[in-house]
Amino acid sequence: MPELKSDREIAVMREAGRLVAEVLELIGRHIAPGVSTKELDTLAEDHIRSRGAIPSFKGYRMGGHAFPASICASIDEVVVHGIPSDRTLVEGQIISIDVGTTLNGYCGDGARTYAVGAIDPLKQKLMDVTLAALQAGIAKACIGKRLGDISAAVQQTVEANGFSVVRDLVGHGIGRRMHEDPQVHNFGVAGTGPLLAKGLVLAIEPMVNAGDYKILFKPDGWTTVTVDGSPSAHFEHTVAITENGPEILTVI
Ligand code: MG
Repeated sequence: MPELKSDREIAVMREAGRLVAEVLELIGRHIAPGVSTKELDTLAEDHIRSRGAIPSFKGYRMGGHAFPASICASIDEVVVHGIPSDRTLVEGQIISIDVGTTLNGYCGDGARTYAVGAIDPLKQKLMDVTLAALQAGIAKACIGKRLGDISAAVQQTVEANGFSVVRDLVGHGIGRRMHEDPQVHNFGVAGTGPLLAKGLVLAIEPMVNAGDYKILFKPDGWTTVTVDGSPSAHFEHTVAITENGPEILTVI
């Protein structure tokens, strides 16, 4: 059963979420051709630690691989979990940055996709649709709705625009741990799944491919790419379900 958070816990998570949003704003001011993803990672880590928080992704383990950096930096056909490196950004790329923070024992998780300089109309539409899908999902994060309502809203928004949602990666509950129950699929059937209750906190994160939904994992154990090489976008917010509707915690 998903753990429900008290108002006090959500207040702590609001601070962790605000820090995520600060980092995403900071990175947005530095995205430009010629900047390496490692430089962005250093900016993020320094800012997170300056607030007495921990970059949650650094050392995070999945299948025996510890993630070596504080952000995920995923360019073009990389869907998520790209590892920062000396690779520099090039005009026309899109890059998704995913940030996790742990502050006073609670986590925040958010992601945004940025354009590097001028991009082609397909990539712009992909980013716009992915953000719209996130917003459509968040709008369903209300007491009395069901988890499938969020999933279906995301999927419908994406597919109505001719793109596809990644099936093999999901959003998640979040709290003291970065990844808690329930899994939040980006596809599903409205009116199905568990009822959403006050105090449930979810990281909702559509990952959207311009082409086919199939992905594969690179041998580094992290980097996830589209099989057909099409570009992919990713937006994520940590969202608390409250008596007043959805509250986005990853905002400044
Ligand atoms: Mg997440």
